[in-house]
Amino acid sequence: MVKQTIQIFARVKPTVRKQQQGIYSIDEDEKLTHSLEIVLPRDLADGFVNNKRESYKFKFQRIFDQEAKQEIIFEIIAKPVAESTLAGYNGTIFAYGQTGSGKTFTITGGAERYSDRGIIPRTLSYIFEQLQKDSSKIYTTHISYLEIYNECGYDLLDPRHEASKLEDLPKVTILEDPDQNIHLKNLSLHQATTEEEALNLLFLGDTNRMIAETPMNQASTRSHCIFTVHLSSKEPGSATVRHAKLHLVDLAGSERVSKTGVGGLLLTEAKYINLSLHYLEQVIIALSEKHRTHIPYRNSMMTSVLRDSLGGNCMTTMIATLSLEKRNIDESISTCRFAQRVALIKNEAILNEEIDPRLMIVRLQKEIEDLKAELAMATGEQRTEALTEAELLQLEKLIASYLEDQDPESRLEVGADMRKIHHCFHHFKKLLNDKKTLENTVSSESTRQACQEPLRDEEYTKLLGLLKQRDNEINILVNMLKKEKKKTQDALQNSSLEKSDTRPPQNSPFIAGSPAVPRTPFSSAPSHTQDLSICRHRSSLLHKKTGMREEMSLGRQEAFEIFKRDHADSVTIEDNKQVLKQRFSEAKALGESINEARSKIGQLKDAINQRHLQQVALGISENTVPASTPDPQEEKLRAQLEEEKGRYKTAFMHLKALKVEIEHLQLLMDKAKVKLQKEFEAWWAEEATSLQVNSPATNLQDAVKPFPQQDQAQLLSKKSSRDLEVENGAGRLEVCDRNARRILPSPCPNQQSQEPSGSRVLVQDRPLSSIPLTGDSQTDSDILAFIKARQSILQKKCLGSN
Ligand code: ADP
Ligand code: MG
Repeated sequence: MVKQTIQIFARVKPTVRKQQQGIYSIDEDEKLTHSLEIVLPRDLADGFVNNKRESYKFKFQRIFDQEAKQEIIFEIIAKPVAESTLAGYNGTIFAYGQTGSGKTFTITGGAERYSDRGIIPRTLSYIFEQLQKDSSKIYTTHISYLEIYNECGYDLLDPRHEASKLEDLPKVTILEDPDQNIHLKNLSLHQATTEEEALNLLFLGDTNRMIAETPMNQASTRSHCIFTVHLSSKEPGSATVRHAKLHLVDLAGSERVSKTGVGGLLLTEAKYINLSLHYLEQVIIALSEKHRTHIPYRNSMMTSVLRDSLGGNCMTTMIATLSLEKRNIDESISTCRFAQRVALIKNEAILNEEIDPRLMIVRLQKEIEDLKAELAMATGEQRTEALTEAELLQLEKLIASYLEDQDPESRLEVGADMRKIHHCFHHFKKLLNDKKTLENTVSSESTRQACQEPLRDEEYTKLLGLLKQRDNEINILVNMLKKEKKKTQDALQNSSLEKSDTRPPQNSPFIAGSPAVPRTPFSSAPSHTQDLSICRHRSSLLHKKTGMREEMSLGRQEAFEIFKRDHADSVTIEDNKQVLKQRFSEAKALGESINEARSKIGQLKDAINQRHLQQVALGISENTVPASTPDPQEEKLRAQLEEEKGRYKTAFMHLKALKVEIEHLQLLMDKAKVKLQKEFEAWWAEEATSLQVNSPATNLQDAVKPFPQQDQAQLLSKKSSRDLEVENGAGRLEVCDRNARRILPSPCPNQQSQEPSGSRVLVQDRPLSSIPLTGDSQTDSDILAFIKARQSILQKKCLGSN
C-alpha cells in the first residue's frame, strides 16, 4: 500500500502581452518547496484606506512558469503517475482552473503543433513503449472516454452513435454494487493494442465531442472529460491479474456564475457547472477535515466517478492552471486556494490484484486430473469419462431383469458408481417418455379421425379468402410498379433536358467521398481534393464514425472552399500539411537508408561467411590447423557489420518516432477539417434560414450574416444594389450570377428533401453581403477586388460549361 497526499502542481499560462511586472513571483526555498506569490495591485476604487490583503502565497510541489514546455510537464507530472499505473496502482491526473487557463492544452494538447501534444498522447506513447520493453508480463490495454455535462454522462467512443447533439450520445449511468464499487453502465471499453490505436480513440472522442457541441451548449468549457486507460497485466502461467486505471481528467471551467454575466439558459448552465464543481469542493473539504465520517461523493456524477481518485485507492495529481493576467487574478487565487485544500487529502493506493476465472478453471481441471489418478490408484480401477460398452450392456441386462421381477421388494444393485446410477435414471426416464408419446399418438389419431370432415370445409373457405387477399395485394403491387416505371422514365427525360442546363449534381462527392470526383467545368474542387487526399481514408473513417455528411452539392462545395480559405484555421492546416510533407520525405529517405543498411548487412554477412569458408578450405588444402588468432580481415568485416547494424537500428528507431509524429499530425489535421466542416455547416444553415425568413419581402442583403469565425466583419449591403427577382413565390432560395448560374442550391441539408423543388426565388447576382469577409481589418476595396475575382472565375466556369 502506498500512502500519499494528492500532489499539486501549478502551471502559469503564457500571456499574450508581456506581463506587467510584479503580479506574481515564484520562489524556491532551501527545502525545495516551491511557492507562488500573487500580488494584488491596490485598487484605488476601493478608497485610499482599505484593508484588502495585497499578497497571497501558495505552496505547490512545483510551479511551472509561462515558458514551461509540454515535455517537462509530462516528465515531472505525468510520468510518475504513468509509472505507478504500470506497476498496478490506480492513477489520476486532473486539471483545474478557469476557462482559457490551459486545462485542455495541458491534458490533451494544442491543435497546431506536434510538440504541443499534451499529457494524454505523451502518456499513451510512454505506456506503450514500456509495455513493449517488458516481456515478463502479458498486458492488455483498454480505453474509455466519458464526458459529464449537466450531471449526465456521455460515452464519447460509442461505436453506434451518429452524434449531432450531445444528447444523441448514449447516456452513461452509475451503478453501485453491494461492496459500494462504482460501475459505469453504457460506457464502452475499447481495446488498444498499439499507441496508434489508442491515439485514434482519443481523436475520435475529441471529434465526437466537437461535433456534439453547439453554441448553446459550450460543452467544452462546461463539461468534465475523463479519458481512462485501463491496464491489466499478468505474468505468464500465473492466475493473478493486476488491474490499474489511469484517469486523465479535463474539468469544466472553474469560474463563478457572477463572472459569466449571462442570463437565461446560459446562466442556469453556468450555475449548474459550478454546482458540480461545488460538490467536488465539498468532497474535498470533507476529506481534508479530520474526523469527518460522511463524504458526500454521491451528490454528483463526477465525484461518484472519481471517488477512488479522491481520498481512495489512487495516486492522484492535480494541476492548477493559472492565467495570471490582472483581470483573472481573483479566479487564479480561488484556484490556488482550492489546490491548497486538495493537497491535504490523503490517498491510499493498493495493488489491485484478482484471480483470473479462466485461469482458475484451468487450475481446477488440473486438480481433477490429479485426484482421478489418485482414485484409480486407491481402487485399482481405471476410471474413464464414460462407461464402456460391456459395462453398459451389463447394466441394461440388470435393469431388464429388475423391471421383469414381479417381486415388489426386489432391488437394483449397481454399486457405488455415480455414472451407473445416472445411467439407470436416464434409462427409466426414457422408458417413461416413450410410454407417454405412445399414448398421445393413439389418442390424437382417434380425435383427428373424428373431426376431419367439418375441418375440410372450414379450411377451404379460409384458403379461398386468403387467395383473394393475395390477388388484391398483387394488383396493388403491379400498379405501384407501373407508376414507378413511369416516374423513372420522366426523370430520365428531365435529366437529359437538364444536361444543357449547368446545374450541378445535387450529391456530387466531396472530399471524403469516392475518389472518382466527376469534374464539372466550374468545379473548383480538384486541387483541394488532391491536397486533402492524403488523409482521405482516415477522414472517411472519422466521418463514418462521427456520422458527418460526406457529400455536398457543388454550389455548397464552392462556398465551402471559400469558407475554408478564409478561415483562421486554414493557416494551421496549411502549415501542418507542409510539416507532414516534410516528414513524409524524411520518412522516405530514412526508409531508403534502412534498406541500404539492410542490404549492406546482408553483403557483409556473406563476405564473412565466404572468408570463413576460404580459411577452412585453405587449412584443409595445406593440412594445417586453423590459426587460433583471429583473422584480421574477418575482424574488420565484423566491425563493419556492427557499425551497419548500429546505423540500421538508429534509422529504424528514428523512423518509428517519425511514424508516430506523422500519425499525430494526420489526426490533428483530420480534427481541424471536421471542425472546419462543422463550422461551415452551422454558418450555411444559419445563412439559409435567415435567407428564408427574410425573403422575399425584406432585403436579402440585410439577412445574410458574415462567417461566424470572423469577429465583426461588416455587411456591405450599401454596395450591393442588385435586387431580388422573384421567380416563384416564397420558399427555396437560389442565388445566381448573371448567367443564371446557380451556386447556392439549397438552404439547409435537412430541408433539402422536404422542400418542393418548384418554389424558388432567384436573385440576379449573389448579394455582396453574403460573400464572406476575412476579418474586421479588411477594407471595402479588398472586398470588391475579391468579388471581382470571384465573378471572373464564375464567368470563366460558365463559359467553359456552355
Ligand atoms: P481551457 O481548457 O482551460 O479552457 P485551453 O487549454 O483551451 O483552456 O487554452 C486556451 C488557449 O490558450 C488555447 O488556445 C491554448 O492553445 C492556449 N494555451 C493554453 N496554455 C498554453 C500554454 N501553456 N502554451 C501555449 N498556449 C497555451
Ligand atoms: Mg478546455
